[in-house]
Amino acid sequence: MWHRRILNGYWVLVLLMLAAQFIFVLSTHMPEVKSAILPGKGHLFVACNIMIVIAMILAEMWLRTAVLYRKQAVVGCGFVVSYLMYFVLEPFVDGAQMTLMMPIMISLIYFDRKLLHYLGLFSVVFYAGVYFGLERTILDKPMLEFFMVECVFIVFVFMSRMAIIRAREVRDHLEQLTKSEQELMVERAISDKLLKIDALTGLYNHKTFHEYLDSLLEQCESNGLHLQLALFDIDNFKRVNDTYGHWVGDLVLKEVAGQVRAMIGLNDFAARYGGEEFAVIFTDKNVHEAYAAAEELRLAIGRMEHSYAGGKPITVSIGLCDYQLGDGKELLFRKTDNALYTAKHGGKNAVVTASHSHKEETVYA
Ligand code: GH3
Ligand code: MG
Ligand code: MG
Repeated sequence: MWHRRILNGYWVLVLLMLAAQFIFVLSTHMPEVKSAILPGKGHLFVACNIMIVIAMILAEMWLRTAVLYRKQAVVGCGFVVSYLMYFVLEPFVDGAQMTLMMPIMISLIYFDRKLLHYLGLFSVVFYAGVYFGLERTILDKPMLEFFMVECVFIVFVFMSRMAIIRAREVRDHLEQLTKSEQELMVERAISDKLLKIDALTGLYNHKTFHEYLDSLLEQCESNGLHLQLALFDIDNFKRVNDTYGHWVGDLVLKEVAGQVRAMIGLNDFAARYGGEEFAVIFTDKNVHEAYAAAEELRLAIGRMEHSYAGGKPITVSIGLCDYQLGDGKELLFRKTDNALYTAKHGGKNAVVTASHSHKEETVYA
């Protein structure tokens, strides 16, 4: 895109220069200027202008058709045009050497240090050739002018070099800033997750569970969403701790939680409610489907092998409640707790739904 912009800049410059020449030649009464456009006298003047336009058209065509070497085409065209422009302007304009700085400025636009060095060196050598080959022999220009122009080249290259280095520093600094900002975002995401997840089981923690349930209950009330809450409590867990130690107890908790997480659906939500209790919210099921899912979970947990805990099965009791509109969170919990209590008192290792408050496994198993 920058190739296009630079070439457009050249076009503006060339057209302005051609227009200026045209007006100048028409309006002046100096005979030597008039003679510049007369056939036979001003070959160089006219030829240079024609060559400028040809160089521009060639660069334009290259940019429109070629894919490779576009930068080289733009830079080369700039170099040729600036020297031809110099030849055209030099007889009439003092300080026409300024046009020779154009190629160096282009490297500044590209922020290309290598290009800057090449163009700087090339400009110094090329101008020396022009001076000693043409200007000194034909126009008898003083040496001082040659030195001055060469010095300006060198100073210009050094200043441009510094500008490029400075710009790179700023770019690196910006990159660094963006990088640390990204790192910060990742860290924030991780700490956000850590705040939501229970460290031992990897399930959502108590606080997140309540936040999520609150927002779901709002949706139940406003949009008629259906949900069921299931509270899981590991049976006789104290015995596991007492017999095999807390470390084994932790391992059992982790494995049971892993089983729950692996078995729930995409729209269900599992949390460690506290101690050896887990909570699952079902959001896309009716009460029978939720019961079936809870029952499946209960059976799967009971089938798990815990060799480190004596190889005996670890079972869970589950209280399940289908949310009734208008109940609110407190009543939902009370009903679910009661169901869990019934499951425990009925002999444990069972799922009980709150609505009937009796063992439904006999109905659905
Ligand atoms: P019940 O079948 O009636 O639920 O019997 P239980 O022994 O499971 O019930 P109780 O609530 O009396 O015991 C729960 C035990 O869970 C007590 C506590 O030491 C243990 N516990 C709670 N949190 C953790 C934990 O993070 N790690 C371990 N290892 N044990 C825990
Ligand atoms: Mg308990
Ligand atoms: Mg228990």
